[in-house]
Amino acid sequence: MIKKIKIFTILAITTICALPMKGQDLLARQAPVDRKMKAVDSVALQRLIFTENFESPAEDLYEDWSNKYAHHETALPDSFRISLKDFCMPTTSRVLTSNFGARWGRQHKGLDIKVYIGDTIRAAFSGKVRIVRYEARGYGKYVVIRHHNGLETIYGHMSKQLVTEDQEVRAGDPIGLGGNTGRSTGSHLHFETRLCGVALNPALMFDFRNQDVVDDYYMFHKDSYQRESAVANRLRGVNNSGLSSGDDDIEMANAAPVANYAQESRFHKVKKGETLYSIARKRGTSVDAIMKLNHLKKTSRLQPGQILKYN
Ligand SMILES: [Zn+2]
Repeated sequence: MIKKIKIFTILAITTICALPMKGQDLLARQAPVDRKMKAVDSVALQRLIFTENFESPAEDLYEDWSNKYAHHETALPDSFRISLKDFCMPTTSRVLTSNFGARWGRQHKGLDIKVYIGDTIRAAFSGKVRIVRYEARGYGKYVVIRHHNGLETIYGHMSKQLVTEDQEVRAGDPIGLGGNTGRSTGSHLHFETRLCGVALNPALMFDFRNQDVVDDYYMFHKDSYQRESAVANRLRGVNNSGLSSGDDDIEMANAAPVANYAQESRFHKVKKGETLYSIARKRGTSVDAIMKLNHLKKTSRLQPGQILKYN
């Protein structure tokens, strides 16, 4: 308990120290915390601890803290809500050069975003830097951060790392500079989002083109994740069990924007009350096209929070 209070205090102090960087936004966000800090009686203390646990679900998700592996799969929760609030886009670039998913017979576990050598790369959320390493045949100079929201993010191919392992960072802190190190042709940022070591499509959370998050939350469901990866593996002719995470991370990045840029998959998160018809109209496509892309039947019912491909 005392340890937690300490951590919270350190976090609060770090935040206050970081104030000059972001100015008003952080000031506004900081205000309620300051008020809480002043009223540290036992009731407030309980609430504070509750808030801290609530804001740092990563503690429940990960058993240990290790600087050994870039990622390593651990038990997945049945479902988990990842808060995307208080994010910062890792780069101001809006140009994707490669999507998540199958690529040249391999799985590409992240998004490639066009950046130039020396461009500032920033922490997507607050958290603690777990890995700062160089991998000549893979990620190049890369950084892994474990965030309080439970996600881990990986930033690869940088020319310079600006943080050290075990360092606390806030969303938006510069963590490195854009580059072309490791297995990469042409400078770009390779960006991954992982939960318990499992790579999730960053495009379901970050919309680089619009420099925004897709929603306030990303809802992870183990059963639908497993269903989708089984399908993806079948399509690639890999059996489900045989694939280790090790050798399919090899980066063969291409600096040129993907040729079918306009046809890149886009996703729509279903809101309450929406129908296939209203979504099709909103996204400028047809009901048939959405049904086909998502293998839906006429009788399929949409669930709020469901993610649909729309092109
Ligand atoms: Zn990549």
